[in-house]
Amino acid sequence: MASGRSGSSTSSSGGGGGGRDRRGSVCSFCGKTQREVGPMVEGPKDVYICKSCVELCHNIIRQEMRKTSTARAIVGSTPTPKQIKEFLDEYVIGQTDAKRSLAVAVHNHYKRLAHRDQGGDDVELDKSNILMVGPTGTGKTLIAKTLARILNVPFAIADATTLTEAGYVGEDVENVLLRLLQGAEYDLELAQRGIIYIDEIDKIGRTTQNVSITRDVSGEGVQQALLKMLEGTFSNVPPQGGRKHPEQQYIQMDTTNILFVCGGSFSGIVDIIKRRVGRSTIGFANEADEHTWSEEATELFKEITPDDLIEFGMIPELVGRLPVITTLSPLDTESMVKILTEPKNALVRQYKKFFEFEGCQLEFTKGALRLISEKAMGRKTGARALRGVIEDFMIDAMFDLPERPKSGKWVVTEAVVERTQDLFAPKTKRRRESA
Ligand code: ADP
Repeated sequence: MASGRSGSSTSSSGGGGGGRDRRGSVCSFCGKTQREVGPMVEGPKDVYICKSCVELCHNIIRQEMRKTSTARAIVGSTPTPKQIKEFLDEYVIGQTDAKRSLAVAVHNHYKRLAHRDQGGDDVELDKSNILMVGPTGTGKTLIAKTLARILNVPFAIADATTLTEAGYVGEDVENVLLRLLQGAEYDLELAQRGIIYIDEIDKIGRTTQNVSITRDVSGEGVQQALLKMLEGTFSNVPPQGGRKHPEQQYIQMDTTNILFVCGGSFSGIVDIIKRRVGRSTIGFANEADEHTWSEEATELFKEITPDDLIEFGMIPELVGRLPVITTLSPLDTESMVKILTEPKNALVRQYKKFFEFEGCQLEFTKGALRLISEKAMGRKTGARALRGVIEDFMIDAMFDLPERPKSGKWVVTEAVVERTQDLFAPKTKRRRESA
């Protein structure tokens, strides 16, 4: 702020557009007096501004900046697939295939918008929504979230299993759009170019061979509702969320330019692929290993086709609206160790930071990192399990840390992970002193 003095209330004759009058300072923007609006900020030459006008100006400027930054991010300098991939590499370990396909799809999506904005109508470029298939906790949501960050567009996550057709208990599909709009601070233009990640898309499959006389609440109906959104439609979004009711005012949202990324584990789909491949390569099916995530299964998984997804229970129209299909591999112990240590926000880095705040140092031995990863693998929820495994043995140390002396180097060993030794136990301490 250039001259941020608080306006005084000493009286003097005031000018029409603000300044001072007998009632004290007058806001140069809204004309209200200091008595009405409280302290004001004084600029040069008898210019004053009140608290509400400061806030109003702040909002106007923020909105303008957002518009220009959106325009710049989306139209001007869409990052190249290589740049997108490099950015993803900072947060997501492995999953090269998925990162590459997504980088290309997302780059093309925003290029397509720019092309349309510039009035290009020679070639119609199709929208390419994306389907990520991979076991739970392998980075699907993380990739989608990180993408939204590099592109500077709003991002919303929805869980397909909680979605229902309008009128049923659960969440209306439109509420997902509302979340995107909220993420864009109700900037409709910006929200209409955002990214929506729909998790667990595989859980709303048609229940195979299940002929029901009542309507299928969580299955095909939801797929139909999602289908409309994915295709591009004008949706009536209730600004307050919740159930729709006739008196409510709606915001019309166009989903044509929203990029939908869907994710699901599709567990059991390897068997479908096996069957398909088995049909064409005689004898193959008999040799197939029953273990779901054998090396062979992982390789087969990459061969997934739209037909397999339909066989799994997705409606063909929905599969048709997800032209980019990419797979994520299950994580091995080595990848888990990398996830613990390498990303910018890696768990080990975060714990080290907390220790630094208290003037201490924290180290993890290689053996400890491996053991943590192995324990996490056992929980079968992918990298998601890492946090829980670490918390199990770190919670006591974190509880005591702020009250301990503000110095020292502590080492997480395998024994600490196994909880047979305390992180702050004297044995560890002696080792530090002798080092
Ligand atoms: P899902 O595949 O089920 O969507 P998430 O992306 O939500 O899994 O992963 C859960 C958490 O596990 C993430 O927040 C992240 O911390 C970690 N994680 C999973 N996969 C990776 C990966 N490939 N690289 C880095 N971190 C990962």
